[in-house]
Amino acid sequence: MRYSEEDLLPISALQHLVFCERQWALIHLEGSWAENRLTAAGRVMHERVHSGEAETRREVRVTRGLALRSLTWGLIGKADVVEFHRVEEGEFQPGEAARLPRHAGWWIPVPVEYKVGKPKLERCDEVQLCAQALCLEEMLGVKVPRGELYYGKTCQRHEVLISEDLRRETAEAIARLRDLTEGKKQPRGRFDQKCEACSLRDLCQPRLAVRGRSVASYVEALFDPRQEGGTA
Ligand code: SF4
Repeated sequence: MRYSEEDLLPISALQHLVFCERQWALIHLEGSWAENRLTAAGRVMHERVHSGEAETRREVRVTRGLALRSLTWGLIGKADVVEFHRVEEGEFQPGEAARLPRHAGWWIPVPVEYKVGKPKLERCDEVQLCAQALCLEEMLGVKVPRGELYYGKTCQRHEVLISEDLRRETAEAIARLRDLTEGKKQPRGRFDQKCEACSLRDLCQPRLAVRGRSVASYVEALFDPRQEGGTA
């Protein structure tokens, strides 16, 4: 199946969805956004990364803000950085390296995603990177075996293998994203550790959704005199 241009979903939505479905719904269905210290620092970091010129350092060609698209997976987005590592004939498996316009030789693409914080418990950053790899594979006609995540808090790069497990996880997240987008469902928030740093906490009110209650039903109950604790 091939998706049309108007059916493409943003890769960033995938990252939000895997981090927290409620956060995805607030941003991508309701158009909500709130800046906090982390999101502001992230915005500045991405502006800096994207504003740099393409450059070639020794055997590595660095491109910034590369537009990504996959009609097979139905995704669209932008890569912070894609490095192309030059390899010689015989140094790579068939289908691993691509030709680049105006650059001699063979090149292996490595997507690099920049994050302001530190590695997370959730696999949202890995899934986002894998989605970028899937787009690059379709655009360049090669297999992308690995990418890297850079975390500003630790100032470290982490290698991420684009393994079969990660590809499966990403495919499942893409299918879930499409289902929720088409169904326009509003997943409930559930308070947990990640909520502490979430810029949408005030809008989401995850503590009100305890015991499976939605915000709407909680507020309704507050004003219902028949219920214990209701406000007459
Ligand atoms: S506050 Fe928690 S539940 Fe609500 S959107 Fe943020 S991470 Fe998700």
